[in-house]
Amino acid sequence: MLRYLTYSIIKDFLTCPEKGRLSHIEKLKKPGLKAVLLWGTGIHFGIEGFYKSGVNPSDTFEVFWIDACLNSKEEIEYREGETGEELLKAGKATLAKWVSHEETPKEYFSVERNEKIEICGIPFYATIDFVGENGNLLIDWKTSSCRYNPAKAHYDLQLTAYSYILANVLEKTPQKVGFGVFIKKKEPEIEYVWGRQRTKEDFENFERIVRKVWRDIERGEFYKNPGLHCNWCDFLPLCLGEADVSDYVRKDDKYYGRYEES
Ligand code: SF4
Repeated sequence: MLRYLTYSIIKDFLTCPEKGRLSHIEKLKKPGLKAVLLWGTGIHFGIEGFYKSGVNPSDTFEVFWIDACLNSKEEIEYREGETGEELLKAGKATLAKWVSHEETPKEYFSVERNEKIEICGIPFYATIDFVGENGNLLIDWKTSSCRYNPAKAHYDLQLTAYSYILANVLEKTPQKVGFGVFIKKKEPEIEYVWGRQRTKEDFENFERIVRKVWRDIERGEFYKNPGLHCNWCDFLPLCLGEADVSDYVRKDDKYYGRYEES
């Protein structure tokens, strides 16, 4: 059974408890490594190196990408028409645009900040992408193939969760929260999408969600919740009876695709 929660675990259990069970309790995943996840990880490494060591993020991305392509233990899966060379070019170009974007923060308070707190007695882990302005600015980096709906930043649960954590560990709720979106297109774009400061009511609601997910896991309530999201679920063949558990592999937590595309 699970010993802790993260935002991504909560998201999966809320979307479909069966998906949550397969992914986080059985720790199953499709064999292979999605190039798009690897790309997102490279973007995060580029940003981290830029703030912490002043290294050109495009250079960091290039080193990461070449190393991953040469040394990945799993086969890298590209989408139709995608190649490793194109993704390398796109990663470098996007990061070059990001550095010169007028809204990209010049200074940071913390980057890739690991936190573990207890929420209503439930252990909760998070890695918070970016905190700036002495704790008043919270950014989550996203990679996407399309523009974000601006409303998303206002209600997004991940930004609420990370605001909650910062409010607890820094004793101040970030005033400005949002996404820095890397839009992966032929001509890459950077977009900052800002949402409202989270309130006490948001935090109380978040606590209710955390308690509910934890309770459901403890009780073993893993029902299927079919919907449009099944189209993007790796377990669809399993649910349709077209695949077997043996067609999946156990997750290695150190695999390269640490970050999800949105
Ligand atoms: S395919 Fe749909 S019902 Fe099946 S685990 Fe995935 S999200 Fe749940």
